[in-house]
Amino acid sequence: MSVYHVRLIEAYAPGADHPWSVIRSVVSAESSPCLAPVLVRLGSHRRRVRCGDRLPLHRQCCDCAPRIVVIEVRRITA
Ligand SMILES: [Zn+2]
Repeated sequence: MSVYHVRLIEAYAPGADHPWSVIRSVVSAESSPCLAPVLVRLGSHRRRVRCGDRLPLHRQCCDCAPRIVVIEVRRITA
């Protein structure tokens, strides 16, 4: 499973309900080996790559599909 721990910093205008700026930073990332590598051919070369590097999200294995965990949200008024 790919897990990304993310920290958010939201900047608000005084009295606003929605932030005008959101900064996302990845604090740490963990990943596991792919369960369903994809065969890629280029000319006479063949190579297996992680399905997470090749396929859209809905077709990725459960180890490649990213999980995002927000660990901190900091709200500032600017
Ligand atoms: Zn995979």
